[in-house]
Amino acid sequence: MASKSFRRKRDSRTTVELYQEFLQDGAIFRQPPPELGAAARSLETHGVVTVQRLEYVHCSNERDRDFPPRVRGCRGQIYLDEGLDENGNEYRCPECDRPVFPHRHQKQRKLEIRANVRPDGVAECIENALTAAGYRPRRASVGVWHVEKGSERLWVCVVDFCEEQRYLARDWARAQPTCYIVVDPITAEERFHNEAWLCRLTLAAILVDPQALRNALKRLGTPSHVGNVSVPVVTKSVAPIRLERETRRVEPREYLVEFRPDSVVINGVEVIGSRATEQHEIFGKLLKRFTEDLAEALTPTEYRTLRIADLTNTDVEVPRRTINRLQASIADALRRQSGYTVDSQDVVESCGQPGKRDLPHGYRLNPRCVCVRPIRTGQDD
Ligand SMILES: [Zn+2]
Repeated sequence: MASKSFRRKRDSRTTVELYQEFLQDGAIFRQPPPELGAAARSLETHGVVTVQRLEYVHCSNERDRDFPPRVRGCRGQIYLDEGLDENGNEYRCPECDRPVFPHRHQKQRKLEIRANVRPDGVAECIENALTAAGYRPRRASVGVWHVEKGSERLWVCVVDFCEEQRYLARDWARAQPTCYIVVDPITAEERFHNEAWLCRLTLAAILVDPQALRNALKRLGTPSHVGNVSVPVVTKSVAPIRLERETRRVEPREYLVEFRPDSVVINGVEVIGSRATEQHEIFGKLLKRFTEDLAEALTPTEYRTLRIADLTNTDVEVPRRTINRLQASIADALRRQSGYTVDSQDVVESCGQPGKRDLPHGYRLNPRCVCVRPIRTGQDD
């Protein structure tokens, strides 16, 4: 009997752990095991994440008909995209730049899952859990609610989304009975002030056990015997966002773009030279759209795309190839300089691929990794 209950405990902990994998905004999973796929579907049903499922092939795979390629151990991955035509050599390996034919060579397909947290979905989920627990939640601020328990007012605060620092202060938590909810588990581990009297719950725990929030609020009261020190319950720094779950890439992806009159420089490397006028022009249009969205304070998922017709004036096939080359050559230049793995989607992102339902087909500067800075003149900066 003991082992049975132990197993059950382990199982439920595993579901929480699986959920937490996906509750890190921007997490990427390559060839996820079935239980991760099931967790993703379940979280989608809860409405707390959007999940993109992409298929890719390996440039070099000994089980494929085109093995071995020129670069035998090439680690390039090529994403399938309905908008690309392999007969037009539009699939290119981002690592070795060779044309790849996923369909013609029936190359083995692999699955990649990308997850993004939906703040609206999280809010709805918490409101539902509060309602189900018999409370009438009232929204006090972004990510903050209060409910009445008898004559007492209880507070619920999602630390990942809360914008008002006062709710995150230790002095607040000491005076107001507040249940803190953490979406990204990294936040819980690295940012949360570790005091036993603080009431904190993970969103994953609430999703797995709908009673968790009810039970936490039942126990919640103004804490007594708390010493007088004024420190925040979470640090002010922005929650770290996981961009890549694979061990291979450990460096933070951040691409600092300088758009010059006749070239484009990223992280100090010239990625588009003076002769590539068409690529320069396309990059300029993508950058303009990017900075407009930046000024409108959009979230990364809201950044708009430009269609091929917006980027060039000529017929569709040629410019699409130009854009694919642009993606590949930027990744190439950065890779040569840094030695890091650089994905062809890191700087100029193709959107609206199968699985990316929320965006129309098009291109944009990748809002998760691209940063913009003025031109360095070498004199005064
Ligand atoms: Zn390759």
